[in-house]
Amino acid sequence: MHCPFCGENDTKVVDSRLVAEGNQIRRRRECLNGKCSERFTTYETAELVMPRMIKSNGVRQPFDEDKLLNGLQRALEKRPVSIEAIDAVLSRIKHKLQSMGEREIKTRVVGELVMAELRELDEVAYVRFASVYRRFQDLNEFREEIDRLDKDANISRGDKVN
Ligand SMILES: [Zn+2]
Repeated sequence: MHCPFCGENDTKVVDSRLVAEGNQIRRRRECLNGKCSERFTTYETAELVMPRMIKSNGVRQPFDEDKLLNGLQRALEKRPVSIEAIDAVLSRIKHKLQSMGEREIKTRVVGELVMAELRELDEVAYVRFASVYRRFQDLNEFREEIDRLDKDANISRGDKVN
């Protein structure tokens, strides 16, 4: 690991401990260049492949950790919950998604995992998230219903032509 301050090739680990419920190792390192000797922190996590997300309209997209974190932070804004607790929630959700062993998972499943976590963590954040999420789901269902009605209308129009 190169020193981010001076670019020195050699750094030594001065402390290392498990964080985020053991899913991550936090290491304190020290630059071995005597003129620099700066200390910095690195985080190490196992790289596991996340399943792809299937949106309610059927569009597939890669799992977006930042988006999930933003959603959690928005729900937990001004709530007495530590960054460590939010990180732990994020790790648990990712772990659950990975352990499902599916290559593709509906975004709705992620939403439900988030709600289950927030319900345990902070009642206010849970209500905030659930109200936004449910409204969004309803809107999607509404759109799907409109699409279905549209399709039915097209079919009956087609029948008349024939
Ligand atoms: Zn250095």
